[in-house]
Amino acid sequence: MSFENFRKSFRDSLGSKASKSVSARDSDFSIIREIEEVGVGIFWASDIDGSIAYLSENAIASLGCESADLLGRPLVEVFRDCGSAECKGESRNLAFRLQSRTTLDNLIVKVAPGQGAEARGTRYWRICGAPFMNEEGDFKGYRGNATDVTEEFRAQKEIARQSQYDELTGLANRRRLSERLAGILQSFKGRSCALMMLDLDRFKQVNDTMGHPAGDELLKQVADRLKALVKDIGEVGRLGGDEFQILLPDFEDRGELGELAGRIVQMLSQPYSINGRRANIGTSIGIAIAPFDGITATELIGSADMALYRSKEDGRGLYRFYTAELRDAANIGLRLEEELRDALESGELNMIYQPLVDPRTNRVKCFEALMRWNHPQKGAISPSVFIPIAERSDLILKLGEWALEQACQDAAQWPDHLRVAVNVSAKQFLQANMPKLVASTLKRSGLAPSQLELEVTESVFVGGVDAVDQTFEKLDRLGIRLAMDDFGTGYSSLGYLKRAPFAKIKIDQSFVRGCTESGDSNPAIISAVVALAGALQMETVAEGVEAMDELALVTERGADLVQGYVYSHPLSQDEILAKFAEGEWIFKAEGPPRYRTDRMSIYRRAGLIHEDHYYDIMLRNLSKTGARIEGLANVPVGTEVVLDLGGGQLVVSEIIHSTESSQGLQFETPLISDGYSGFMTRHRVSPYLLAEAGMPLAALGAGNTPFVRQSTQPQRPPKFIQLNPTPRAGIN
Ligand code: C2E
Ligand code: CA
Ligand code: CA
Repeated sequence: MSFENFRKSFRDSLGSKASKSVSARDSDFSIIREIEEVGVGIFWASDIDGSIAYLSENAIASLGCESADLLGRPLVEVFRDCGSAECKGESRNLAFRLQSRTTLDNLIVKVAPGQGAEARGTRYWRICGAPFMNEEGDFKGYRGNATDVTEEFRAQKEIARQSQYDELTGLANRRRLSERLAGILQSFKGRSCALMMLDLDRFKQVNDTMGHPAGDELLKQVADRLKALVKDIGEVGRLGGDEFQILLPDFEDRGELGELAGRIVQMLSQPYSINGRRANIGTSIGIAIAPFDGITATELIGSADMALYRSKEDGRGLYRFYTAELRDAANIGLRLEEELRDALESGELNMIYQPLVDPRTNRVKCFEALMRWNHPQKGAISPSVFIPIAERSDLILKLGEWALEQACQDAAQWPDHLRVAVNVSAKQFLQANMPKLVASTLKRSGLAPSQLELEVTESVFVGGVDAVDQTFEKLDRLGIRLAMDDFGTGYSSLGYLKRAPFAKIKIDQSFVRGCTESGDSNPAIISAVVALAGALQMETVAEGVEAMDELALVTERGADLVQGYVYSHPLSQDEILAKFAEGEWIFKAEGPPRYRTDRMSIYRRAGLIHEDHYYDIMLRNLSKTGARIEGLANVPVGTEVVLDLGGGQLVVSEIIHSTESSQGLQFETPLISDGYSGFMTRHRVSPYLLAEAGMPLAALGAGNTPFVRQSTQPQRPPKFIQLNPTPRAGIN
């Protein structure tokens, strides 16, 4: 259509729409022409079939085209969806409106005339238009105008992009990730989505020692590695600082997720090169999966955070899946922390002392001071439960101060050649006033400095600051002895041993436990530590010796002292004073002849589903491929059952051997490692499935799968006899 024709049809359109008396004069059209020429307005027209019939020449030129490229092409092929959130679907909208012949009111479209999608001439227009009828009322096409809004639109898009992405790494930011997660969880109920939370280990040190620009560079490299690993199966984001998050829609297989997390841990701990210098960091990961571990985005993020927290606590460089037990443990921890604050004041804490005996003379050389909490309702609570809780806050400082005071007071009443060893947690050790505190406590109690030992673990070196070295020096000058506790379990750098003036190394229980079993490499490790300690003129202690064969082995391998139930459990101050009052105290080794493996096996409650009956059973042993259970009688070999491991974990199994009260199960699909020390199922029962069965919609709890329980109104009598399983006494 030429301009002349356009003018004519435009006039006609005015004529048909406006009152007949208003006649458009030619001057009106020269104004239109002028508007086109100064480039502030664009006019367009389509024909009956929706093809472009007219387009202002300037507009055609601005698109880098010739009239022939555009005229006659379908309008919807040239005016397209602009691809951004605010005009999503408007091109579809456009096609629909053109078909239904409604008015177009300020639609933003991407005008992309080129065949290649992003041709040079791509512009964004805001278009208006109305259907045009001739005098007979027949539809003749659209007539409309447009404004070029390309610059404005691009600027808006850039602002939108910046609010969604992290400037440093180019990854999605917290806002984008949480919007996406909420979108995924709301769009299709029950759709699975995994969330990984990452926190870098030792990033702060790099930042502090190499400077912030190096820290930034490191974060960029971390982002690149993460993107390369995750590819297009998910979206990586940075939440800020050294925290990253990975969103993995439609992922629920914990086997696959564990593998990915393992690869991430491994890849991120490879050395980095930053301006020619090397940096080493690691990462901890927490994983939660919707809908199992959280129905809403907030709940899922909370779960992943909790798993991350646990993975950091358990030792860095790990991944950890969220389980309902974690939340329960966290809640119990919070309550215990409050109670522990009061426990100190109300005298619920006390110290007991375990002898360290020379196995050659059976005489005691030292006592390790161990804290006990006698809770008024819960009874004795182990320090391995409450010390980690106290370490999360400054409470550990109070507890540590009290323990040191109490131990020194008690030890001052013992014979002069005996020492007391007090455990000091890293947090307390790193306090600036630590040496002063030790000096004043010694003074108050009257205990000689040479009678006091402090036990620290390798974790005191992790901060890697000079202050640690100074503390060691000051304590050494006081004349006290230092002991390296739990040697071999942590970062185990031999460098640590040389860095501080240790008088003693304690070989961790895990090297002693089961060390007499054939094929075990622990005896070799014990020998190596003893030799090393000898070279550095340090004393060695074998911890946790229980059985006679273990005692024989550690003695033969040269341990100077032995601590363990084989000589004595920890004793109260009264017991110790009474013993010393009797005269010379010679210990006698007593214990089982050999270490028993079965102490290691688990013993916990689980459920077994057969036909429509649910049985309570005891899980006696669990491996990747099978389990041994107790609590049922008369279960024939070959029976198909479903084992309920709790937390929505159902395992299809077959009975492969059976005695009167115990059965062996083989799993149809093997379990997978939970990344820590146990096993778990790849898949779980969806909370949405439970909701269909009448349960309230909620993330999975720790216990049995509830719908299985409910639907077990026994239609048929149970096939098996339920024995009454009670945990065997004396097993951990
Ligand atoms: P630890 O320093 O490794 O202490 C040795 C632990 O092994 C003690 O557990 C002791 O009772 C136990 N044990 C000793 N012999 C045997 C044995 O033959 N077999 C077995 N299975 N265990 C044995 P406990 O008293 O439960 O203390 C646990 C941990 O709590 C300690 O480990 C220590 O890390 C921490 N802890 C205890 N008291 C204090 C304290 O006053 N301050 C601090 N910061 N930590 C403490
Ligand atoms: Ca200790
Ligand atoms: Ca220890």
